[in-house]
Amino acid sequence: ERSYHVTASPVGHDTGLYVLVFRDQSEARRIDRMRADFIANASHELRTPLASISGFIETILGPARNDPKAQANFLGIMQEQTGRMSRLIDDLLSLSRLEMKPYLRPGQTVDVKETLEAVISSLTPLMADTGMALEREFGEGSFLVSGDRDELFQVLQNLLENACKYGRSGGRVVVQLEKAVSGGVHEVVATIRDFGPGIPQEHIPRITERFYRVDVETSRTQKGTGLGLSIVKHILTRHGGRLTIRSEVGKGSSFAVHLPIA
Ligand code: ADP
Repeated sequence: ERSYHVTASPVGHDTGLYVLVFRDQSEARRIDRMRADFIANASHELRTPLASISGFIETILGPARNDPKAQANFLGIMQEQTGRMSRLIDDLLSLSRLEMKPYLRPGQTVDVKETLEAVISSLTPLMADTGMALEREFGEGSFLVSGDRDELFQVLQNLLENACKYGRSGGRVVVQLEKAVSGGVHEVVATIRDFGPGIPQEHIPRITERFYRVDVETSRTQKGTGLGLSIVKHILTRHGGRLTIRSEVGKGSSFAVHLPIA
């Protein structure tokens, strides 16, 4: 369904002629609808842990008033829920920061190999927790792209974190760094591969949408917000790059970050 905004301006003086301009409003409406959906989703995601915290406060002040053991248990749950809210707010702020500066500053040169090493170090505790072994398959030479190091750090961190969280049953993650040419463009390609449960094909086109999860319960227990991959996609688009996803159920997934060489 299309809708138009129409303006009429007279041609000359008393000619009885008008120029009508039809402006297509469907795109503006679609964006308005997406924004409203986004706010509704974000509010719902924040309200769920808030409702749980508020319920436990009532219980602690009421029926569990004299039960220190139950109180300790409820406080633990409340702490988890506040963690969830704060992760969600961090991700929402990241998205809004990206939207407030839709164009990348003229880029710094970013060394993808160095950035990847820094991401791996930052996730060493998570890898130890999940018992994940990491294998590097890095090509020779330098891997330089133009862009924002903090943003590219976040891209690689989100992907490696997902591989550890969702692919933990596979026991290992392979991080690959290579150069390739695609459509005449020379690219740096960083691939994060896990050997976990994989993602059913029908979900793959949608997992970079905001708040989309293949399995809400697993995402929750793995401390997910449903925003990680949408942030990844956003950042890559502004770097002139892209994300390709391959996955096979029961075998694992691979997420490849393609960035044009500086
Ligand atoms: P979340 O915060 O829930 O992790 P993401 O946007 O990072 O959100 O990912 C969206 C969904 O895609 C996840 O909830 C999960 O269902 C699925 N997913 C992401 N990475 C993987 C992976 N490596 N293996 C299996 N499923 C994955």
